[in-house]
Amino acid sequence: MRLVLGYLYPSVMSQYGDRGNVLTVQKRCQWRGIDVEIDHLEMGDRVDPDRVDLLLVGGGADTHQRLVCDDLLRVKGDGIRHAVADGVAAFAVCAGYQLWGHYYRTATGEELPGLGVFQARTIHRAAQTGTLQDTITKAGSVRAVGNLVVQWGSQVLVGFENHGGRTYLDGGAQPFGRVLAGAGNNSEDGWEGCVHNNAIGTYMHGPAFPKNPALADHLIKAALSRRYGPVALDRLDDARETSAQQRALQQATTKPRRRWRHLWSDGVG
Ligand code: GLN
Repeated sequence: MRLVLGYLYPSVMSQYGDRGNVLTVQKRCQWRGIDVEIDHLEMGDRVDPDRVDLLLVGGGADTHQRLVCDDLLRVKGDGIRHAVADGVAAFAVCAGYQLWGHYYRTATGEELPGLGVFQARTIHRAAQTGTLQDTITKAGSVRAVGNLVVQWGSQVLVGFENHGGRTYLDGGAQPFGRVLAGAGNNSEDGWEGCVHNNAIGTYMHGPAFPKNPALADHLIKAALSRRYGPVALDRLDDARETSAQQRALQQATTKPRRRWRHLWSDGVG
């Protein structure tokens, strides 16, 4: 079997180690004798829904989102929408997740149109509160930064979040999971991320896959099953992954988050 991975904007959108998700898929496939081809899809490159099996996109600052937004809509949009509608697996993290929704309103109030793959809209907290991010403290006060723990079915996932955007799901949209620690979509409704077909949007950086091998395998399996019919993945020895996850969970659930997270809920003091 072969898996074709489409890595979107590798040189622009790979904040907080999101490239680690690509390396994890590569390794977990190679350890099972599954060939992996990685298409680095930069600005100007189209997405071929008949070729790709799994799409990965990482995070980035508002400036990065502004940079890729037009290309995402005009060059890659149709290919991504067709791919997701056809069951291609996808994992879109933070800035990537936000731009796969209806729109993202940046910290300065500029509205970046999104792909509409996820029935969700995102507004930066600074735009909601009218906070001028002219000091580090002010900029930090409108961000959710820290460990993120999510209940995903019977699994508990752990990662890291750093975002000013607050995401609201449309009625009927399926959240990815429930927040156990951290902010998730908007620290109001307790949901994290969004799911549409085999596409997952999330705020989970880290990167997410190395410490959450079940999540990586879920997407590898979905990607291969679309092309080859139902597949069963060989079990791997995930002792190190599991101990890293346990360690991170322990940290996330014992280490108090810094005070100013509370500022999030009522704007800047
Ligand atoms: N720029 C977006 C925000 O602040 C996304 C940040 C990210 O990808 N880490 O919410």
